[in-house]
Amino acid sequence: MNLSSQLHETAKARANKPAYYFMGGSSSYAELDGAITKFASGLEKLGVRQGDHIGLLLGNSPHFIISLYGALRVGATVIPINPIYTADEIGYILNNGDVKVVVALDIAVPLAEKMHSFLPQVEYFVICETGQFEMDRISVNPKMKSFTNLVASGDLSFNGPELQNDDVALILYTSGTTGKPKGAMLTHKNLYSNAKDVGDYLKINDQDRVITALPMFHVFCLTVALNAPLMNGATMLIVPKFSPKEIFGLGIEYKPTVFAGVPTMYNFLFQYPEGKPEDLQTLRLCISGGASMPVALLKNFEKKFNVVVSEGYGLSEASPVTCFNPLDRPRKPGSIGTSILHVENKIVNEVGVEVPVGEVGELIVRGPNVMKGYYKMPEESSATIREEWLYTGDLAKVDADGYFYIVDRKKDLILVGGYNVYPREVEEVLYNHPDVIEVAVLGVPDPNQGEAVKSYVVSKNPELTVEYLFEYCKEHLAKYKIPSSIEFLKELPKNTTGKILRRALKELVTEPVNK
Ligand code: AMP
Repeated sequence: MNLSSQLHETAKARANKPAYYFMGGSSSYAELDGAITKFASGLEKLGVRQGDHIGLLLGNSPHFIISLYGALRVGATVIPINPIYTADEIGYILNNGDVKVVVALDIAVPLAEKMHSFLPQVEYFVICETGQFEMDRISVNPKMKSFTNLVASGDLSFNGPELQNDDVALILYTSGTTGKPKGAMLTHKNLYSNAKDVGDYLKINDQDRVITALPMFHVFCLTVALNAPLMNGATMLIVPKFSPKEIFGLGIEYKPTVFAGVPTMYNFLFQYPEGKPEDLQTLRLCISGGASMPVALLKNFEKKFNVVVSEGYGLSEASPVTCFNPLDRPRKPGSIGTSILHVENKIVNEVGVEVPVGEVGELIVRGPNVMKGYYKMPEESSATIREEWLYTGDLAKVDADGYFYIVDRKKDLILVGGYNVYPREVEEVLYNHPDVIEVAVLGVPDPNQGEAVKSYVVSKNPELTVEYLFEYCKEHLAKYKIPSSIEFLKELPKNTTGKILRRALKELVTEPVNK
């Protein structure tokens, strides 16, 4: 089984059920499946064959779903790309990923025109009409095709090739910390098994209306808020771009039951002054992942909105989910929960030996969700996957009940005069302060101790002072963990998924708010 044929089956069983709502419009499962088949057929007529690579430069929209599932149905490999990347970043991925056809929004036409000359292997740009761009310009360019015409040219009786479990369905370029991004190759089996296991674990069902507000090009959204809902006949509520206003607005009209977001989204929703809890009262489940959820925020959010927040964990290389807090057993705030079905998680020391309960080590993962490897990078692949185990680079511990706790990323560990300081521990303490909205803690060079703890804080109280926060930290942290400097900022830098970028802070020339 694979995602695209599963969708075909779901469409047979629930033909008239809405698959999604988007900007006032909607589509039934039968209509969506039909559009996917026609798009797949249109791609084939364009010359796309099994194993070809298709790049997606799309935001959250039905175009994304049709292109993704349509490309899979014709046997192609999909490479989703963040559409706000610069031309250089996009060019690198298209080149490295050997992309033959790009599906892009019409606003990307000028970019596409520029790219022709230095990306000879890209044969076509399929342009999705959103009304924001003069489409006449593409009709004179033989390399550009209209998305609408491509679908219209497709054949509803199209039957794609047989797909093998081990065929690469998706290549996800992960940011990586050093050097150029690496393309994690996820197979049909990887994607299908993770969407199925996550859906089962979180009991996603055909009565659910899932808010899809995370960016679709990111694997968290793809598996949790797109593939799992479609596999289970749920209805997606597609949000083009996250904002608290959009989410509360949806609540009144569409009665969502599930929301998936990163912690910063929960923070925005929690802090939104006009956000009334009764507008989101139909929510049965909130899913958090992508970064650690501060315990204070999780508890405050649950209390304010009277909803369960289940934190999970994942990474691109694992399609992505490996752990979630269970719904039918106790949840443990601060923990990423237990291993989901069919996936094993283990904590090991530097030489790969499992450490005892409660001890910190590297989290490693094994299961049907673990990637095939990095595209065209055999050395990086064998360094990351050893004897079937994926080395995540995250430090974690496990308790006696099998609940895992992310301590921090291995590379974010701060060494203060030989002592380990995990940024997350300091962040959790600061998040507990009622005036603090956002925090990021990182290590900075220190001539005496090697590294020192530096903290950036966003506060909602203009009266809050650095001195007061130092005193507060002294009450709650061992001496060596107390930040040696605290700086107030108006906001923290985040990536498009909403994750706080600790590393960008290091480079940022900040303008401290005058305190
Ligand atoms: P990505 O490949 O972009 O999805 O990023 C994966 C990384 O996000 C992981 O290796 C972790 O460092 C981080 N991450 C994901 N979920 C959590 C979580 N619940 N708590 C802490 N870190 C997380």
